[in-house]
Amino acid sequence: MELESIDIRRIIEYRDFISALTSLDFSVHDGKGRLLAPSTSEDPAIRIFLSSETGKKEHENFIRSAIEKAVVRKGVSVFKGPVNQYHCFIPVQVGDISLVFVGNAFYVAAKDLEELESKGSSYGLSLQDLRSWAKGVALSELREISEEYETIYRLLNLSMGDMYEKRLNIERYRKTRIIVDLLSEIGEDMDEYKIYSLLVDAILFLFGGETVSVMTRNGDKFVPVLTKGRFKEKVEGVMLRDSHSVISDAIQRHKAVICTEAHELLRFAYPEDITVLHLFPIATKDETFGLLGVFNSPLPDDDVDNISRLCTLIGLMVKTFRSRKTYTKHISDMTALNLATIGAPAFKDPDRLYESIVEISSRLMNTERVSLMLPEEEQRELLIKGVKGINKWIAKNIRVRIGEGIAGRVYKEGQSLMVSDIERNLSTQKKPNYRTGSFVSIPLKIGDEAIGVLNLTDRVEGEVFSQEDMTFLQHFASYASIAIKGAQYCSKLEEMRTLSITDSLTGLFNRRYFDDRLFEELQRAIRYDSFFSLAIFDIDDFKLFNDTEGHLAGDEVLKTIAEIAREAVRSIDIIARFGGEEFAIIMPQTEKDEAFLVAERTRKNIKELMPRTWENFPRKEITVSIGVATFPLDGKDAKTLIRNADKALYRAKVSGKDRTVVWDAAPPAKGNTT
Ligand code: GH3
Ligand code: MG
Ligand code: MG
Repeated sequence: MELESIDIRRIIEYRDFISALTSLDFSVHDGKGRLLAPSTSEDPAIRIFLSSETGKKEHENFIRSAIEKAVVRKGVSVFKGPVNQYHCFIPVQVGDISLVFVGNAFYVAAKDLEELESKGSSYGLSLQDLRSWAKGVALSELREISEEYETIYRLLNLSMGDMYEKRLNIERYRKTRIIVDLLSEIGEDMDEYKIYSLLVDAILFLFGGETVSVMTRNGDKFVPVLTKGRFKEKVEGVMLRDSHSVISDAIQRHKAVICTEAHELLRFAYPEDITVLHLFPIATKDETFGLLGVFNSPLPDDDVDNISRLCTLIGLMVKTFRSRKTYTKHISDMTALNLATIGAPAFKDPDRLYESIVEISSRLMNTERVSLMLPEEEQRELLIKGVKGINKWIAKNIRVRIGEGIAGRVYKEGQSLMVSDIERNLSTQKKPNYRTGSFVSIPLKIGDEAIGVLNLTDRVEGEVFSQEDMTFLQHFASYASIAIKGAQYCSKLEEMRTLSITDSLTGLFNRRYFDDRLFEELQRAIRYDSFFSLAIFDIDDFKLFNDTEGHLAGDEVLKTIAEIAREAVRSIDIIARFGGEEFAIIMPQTEKDEAFLVAERTRKNIKELMPRTWENFPRKEITVSIGVATFPLDGKDAKTLIRNADKALYRAKVSGKDRTVVWDAAPPAKGNTT
């Protein structure tokens, strides 16, 4: 894969998505240090620094060489730059291309700032500028920052590998969210002009329209009522007649059209500056209210689709507004949709999203019973994921085979089904037991892919569903589908992340994660000339426990030990399941003495808090033995440290178990335990 084949805009969108999640800012570079996308904010000190020629060169060299190192290291790296600032470098692999996300500058020590003040003059920096800037700098905890970046590292690497599908969802999600946000802006005091101005803004800002105009019908002409963008003046004066074949075509076929022919555009009387025109009918099935013109902005098919849908939605709103019958209700429901489904929490929690989709569609259509069905993993059956008006417990046990029954067929065939009278229309023996006769089943789809079914029945007033209801529901369904896909994607990411680092029995971190963290802790300690401790503990006579109480009881003990130990260590400590019945604790910035205290607290708590439920195990208590080793004294690399902690553990075992031994290169002495 070539770098050119990666779409930089997508990467920026991705970067912005991560920034929105974490509120951190990044620039993006390729593996050689070339800038692909600058960050959206910059540290003032660096800006001052960059204004001097030497400073600029030095900064660029620093960033380039740090990026190259980060790529080789394949992990989050922190480097200190020429103005004593720190940056996190996150290498991300997309196919075989290395990208590096570089976090904005942060500062960790007051003395770095002081030093910078004195150093600054050699770069020709103004001391005054530096002083006033340094006053405002908040110092950061290196540990906290790097932890946050490590999360981002995993998130980016897990998700960017398969960029295509994801960016599609994110982009759709983003556009949908903004559109729904915009629609919800309308509120009570809606008027037609306001609806159009939202439409125009959405096209300008979301779809990159250069000049955008809404024209409304006036007799046999379409007259611009609202135009924005570069060629506003030139476009504003042009009216389109519906006798024109392009226009009548768009209206009759209810479809977007595009004009790129110069003579055609001239026939409309547009000036020569206009080279491309997309026209979208703002219409419902049976009435065209206006046209949306997008000038000089060739649109990809996907966007044409999106805008067409938006225009139909706008057409419906205009119709609703004109008939003034139900608009307040629809709008307030759109607002509800915005708040409940598109809000960030729901995006992260699919179950909440499902419930709100059900709730909103029930209110939209005034129906008492609604169910949202999604396929299970194997795609053989549909399960009810959100429900109203049906007992939840019963709903949980309903399964519909794909291709069978009403919902199963709607899912498979991807066509909505509306039945105005079930008794009359369905000849199957299995007639659903609904109170009223009218029933709708709508497929939830993204493109051609079915992702679920929404069923509605039992209208409160007993009235049947109209064609207009159906159209509105179908649009609602397409937005709901995108929201569902987005939420599922997000929760999958979270799940994958959690799964990949936890041990399934104890819920502690697994060995792989432990190895990574130990390596990182070492790097950090080497870089900052700091220290940390490692403890390994092993259950005493656990084989005997298994033999006398059974393996399952043994598993329970492992779980309980994990719980107790997790409580006993400090929040900065990292505790992992190291092996079968062995556990390890990494204690950052912790010297021997303190590590001994943490280990002892863990050991004692396990001994005292473990419920004594066994019958045959001959010991009074379940105990553990612990070995501790400290960096750099007892080892300067992971292997040596682990080996020495293990040796200390062995000493604890041979000197009687149920104790903590701190590694000491000298032969075992007796007094080192409790
Ligand atoms: P010592 O005090 O010397 O550590 O004695 P021990 O019996 O604990 O020694 P050893 O390390 O030889 O035995 C470990 C036992 O732990 C053997 C194995 O059956 C058991 N074990 C390891 N992993 C698991 C597990 O996941 N579940 C259960 N129930 N037992 C496990
Ligand atoms: Mg063992
Ligand atoms: Mg053991």
